Amino acid sequence: MISRAGASALRHVRSQLRPRTGPTYVASVSALTRLLSSLAVLEQRDGKLNHSSLGAVTAAQKLGGSITAFVAGSNIKGVAEEAAKVAGIEKVVAVDNGTYDKGLSESYAPLLVENIKKGEYTHIIAGHTAFGKNLMPRVAALLDVQQVSDITGIENEKTFIRPIYAGNAIATVESSDNIKIITIRGTAFAAAEAEGGSASIEDGVDPKSEPSVEWISENLTKSDRPDLATAGKVVSGGRGLKSKEDFDKIMLPLADALGAAVGASRAAVDSGYADNSLQVGQTGKVVAPQLYLCAGISGAIQHLAGMKDSKVIAAINKDADAPIFQIADVGLVGDLFDKVPELTEKLNKQ
Ligand SMILES: Cc1cc2nc3c(=O)[nH]c(=O)nc-3n(C[C@H](O)[C@H](O)[C@H](O)COP(=O)(O)OP(=O)(O)OC[C@H]3O[C@@H](n4cnc5c(N)ncnc54)[C@H](O)[C@@H]3O)c2cc1C
Repeated sequence: MISRAGASALRHVRSQLRPRTGPTYVASVSALTRLLSSLAVLEQRDGKLNHSSLGAVTAAQKLGGSITAFVAGSNIKGVAEEAAKVAGIEKVVAVDNGTYDKGLSESYAPLLVENIKKGEYTHIIAGHTAFGKNLMPRVAALLDVQQVSDITGIENEKTFIRPIYAGNAIATVESSDNIKIITIRGTAFAAAEAEGGSASIEDGVDPKSEPSVEWISENLTKSDRPDLATAGKVVSGGRGLKSKEDFDKIMLPLADALGAAVGASRAAVDSGYADNSLQVGQTGKVVAPQLYLCAGISGAIQHLAGMKDSKVIAAINKDADAPIFQIADVGLVGDLFDKVPELTEKLNKQ
């Protein structure tokens, strides 16, 4: 919780933030910036910092004020040291306890709340990832504040931009809560520089509450291809591929020729052509690569919600009226079973 003195100072500074110019206004803005204090919740796996979670630091930099990073898990020292090198972070709060290794929200949320109370942060920021989506609503509920989810922009310390209705409308929302619990869309906030910082590291509070759930196992898809969420190029296949055998035979060589990650529509995933972790869209991953090349995908709004911010969208579909062509920068009308292998062959010859 923010201290009473801090809250009253914030209220005073905000009352000064009327749209006017001159020395008082400038002084007030910098006073407000000094009072802002963000906690970026960073992700780790097997003792390695997850660099894609550094978008939370970038969002905190946009807010201004001091930035603390939070990490937890077993043998956390190495992760904390990695985080301490990230540009912009002033302090790393680390909790060394294997209970938090898998980021189970049932035990991680009370842990985070204790540390938020101790640090009196004004903004708590995490990625809108499976981890963040699971954790942050619990944290918000425990603090009795409202979460601001999946933001793509920051207007000021209490006003945020977020897509709604599968990205068909953009809402500007204002939060009057003392502590803002925020998840950020990874494609809107690039990861902060991993080098250049020299933050201090301190031990966080560990409530050591009895975990109510137990981690049994995980079944991860292993791939040498680039990670779908962060890849610069993505090739994606849809129901038009007709079977898993054809999906693998047609799309994987194209991905290899381009050095791209593989994605899929929900119809392709539901039909068993591609793994669930490859789904792009409203209920899958949100990607914004330099190139999104899709074949046999119609362009349903739920799919577009996950890829429409890609820099160049290229589509292959045999139906010239398929909605995907309305947002594609480059379109090829034709049978993907001919066109994709032809394209792959040409790329391999280059
Ligand atoms: C709540 C909700 C959430 C959803 N979330 C997602 C999501 O996250 N991601 C997602 O993708 N969908 C999602 N969907 C499903 C979405 O509405 C569509 O059903 C789905 O995207 C369709 O996938 P598709 O384009 O592969 O299949 P289809 O719509 O069936 O399109 C197949 C396309 O392949 C083309 N085609 C067929 N054969 C060939 C060929 N030989 N050569 C070239 N082209 C060919 C066809 O012309 C057609 O355009 C969601 C739906 C709901 C209701």
